[in-house]
Amino acid sequence: MEESTANNEYDLIVIGAGGAGSTAATLAAGMGKRVALIERDKLGGTCLNYGCDPTKTLLHTAHMLYHAQHAFALGLCIPKAEADWAAVQTHVRQVQKTIRGGTLKQARAGIAAQGVDLFMGEAMFTSPQEIRVNGEILRGKRFVIATGTVAFIPEIEGLSEIGYITNEQAVSLPELPKRLVVIGGGPIGLEFAQMFSRFGVQVVVLEREKQPLPREDRELAMALCSQLTAEGIRMEFGAEMRCGEINKRGKHIHIHGAKGKEEELVADQVLVAVGRRPALDALNLEAAGIRYTEKGITTNATMRTNVPHIWAAGDITSPYQFSHVAAAQGELVAHNVFARKPQAFDDRIIPWVTFTDPELARVGLSEADLKEAKIKYRVGRAYFNKLDRAIANDQTFGSVKLLADADGKILGGHILGANAGDLIAPVVYAIHFGLTVKMIAEAMLPYPTMAEAVRGAAAQF
Ligand SMILES: Cc1cc2nc3c(=O)[nH]c(=O)nc-3n(C[C@H](O)[C@H](O)[C@H](O)COP(=O)(O)OP(=O)(O)OC[C@H]3O[C@@H](n4cnc5c(N)ncnc54)[C@H](O)[C@@H]3O)c2cc1C
Repeated sequence: MEESTANNEYDLIVIGAGGAGSTAATLAAGMGKRVALIERDKLGGTCLNYGCDPTKTLLHTAHMLYHAQHAFALGLCIPKAEADWAAVQTHVRQVQKTIRGGTLKQARAGIAAQGVDLFMGEAMFTSPQEIRVNGEILRGKRFVIATGTVAFIPEIEGLSEIGYITNEQAVSLPELPKRLVVIGGGPIGLEFAQMFSRFGVQVVVLEREKQPLPREDRELAMALCSQLTAEGIRMEFGAEMRCGEINKRGKHIHIHGAKGKEEELVADQVLVAVGRRPALDALNLEAAGIRYTEKGITTNATMRTNVPHIWAAGDITSPYQFSHVAAAQGELVAHNVFARKPQAFDDRIIPWVTFTDPELARVGLSEADLKEAKIKYRVGRAYFNKLDRAIANDQTFGSVKLLADADGKILGGHILGANAGDLIAPVVYAIHFGLTVKMIAEAMLPYPTMAEAVRGAAAQF
């Protein structure tokens, strides 16, 4: 085991206590290394505090409310299905506390108990070997930068003056707005749009592109948006906010819509969800000579920067900005920083989900990818409206789409439907272990289950 002598000297200094940084720090401490972890805000990073966990809790609560209000088809009459927003917020905080493993104070003690020295403050490089935090200098033999991303705010005339929120405020609003404009129709924008709409907010989504969710299967993404529209969310594609002003009627948003249509919307709140930018500003990377671009810190496949003892992990360096990727990179980098032969991050099979209702899940390649790469493929599908369990559950919207090569090897899977995020798991395993559609179709599944749709799509080949 390496020994660090001075009190402020560490085998590893990790900046950022989100999924990537916390994983890297605790694993390295578990290997007997002297580790410092620096965090300027809250332990758990974006996912626990402003991202995955509060949004999924709110979406689930909104889902329960919506389905209680629409339960007549099942023979149920639930006369007073309504939300107590303050109680909903208390529930969200309770969920965060449970996932965190206690209060923020208890979580800090938990990190310390794992042998990590935690510094609550903003980290800034003063040299390639030194970092300043709260006026104190820490020296590191190795560093991992895991500072994640923050919401990107576009330059729109009047936007700052009228005021806006991002995901950070949107997960803990003291009260619900009556009218909300969401700028950005990506996964984050759509999840918030449906959540707020189901809590009774009038929602308009403005998306600059002509089509929604560019990384998703075209057909399934369009089907999802038609469902959101049917639910009462106004979706404007090819539309952008030109400028804004405020008066006592509310925030006036001037939009330039599709086919040159100009319109003015009035809203109580504007939610900006047009993407993320790397959290680099405070780090003073120049002092350490670390290369970066507007997309984040530049690393090689093993997560190493151009400065050999400095590494990066998670959203700050990854084009796949998901918690499971951040945690996997945190784990890999904890190994790589001390390894003689660092390993490359394997980004071949990364699944992801848009957690609307219905969910839209994806793994592997899309039809667009395959066409672009000129790879021949076949499509197998199963529709939930033909599946007994989906009919019994009144969850018939959507389908499973599998893409396979001439030998039946699965190249991609796309699912739109209830719990698609769970249903994609067998497709992830299938791609991971090189299973063919024939193998999937041959395996018996319990009846009646939603998973039979995956088998049904495989049987189509
Ligand atoms: C609204 C929303 C919903 C999401 N939902 C999902 C989902 O359902 N599933 C999913 O997989 N992913 C989801 N994500 C993405 C997920 O949250 C991120 O991929 C994940 O949090 C990345 O982890 P990270 O450790 O790289 O960065 P982060 O979690 O962002 O952690 C970085 C930490 O570094 C700290 N920091 C930054 N600069 C400094 C500095 N100079 N000094 C000290 N500390 C610093 C920050 O305060 C932060 O705590 C969502 C994101 C958002 C915004």
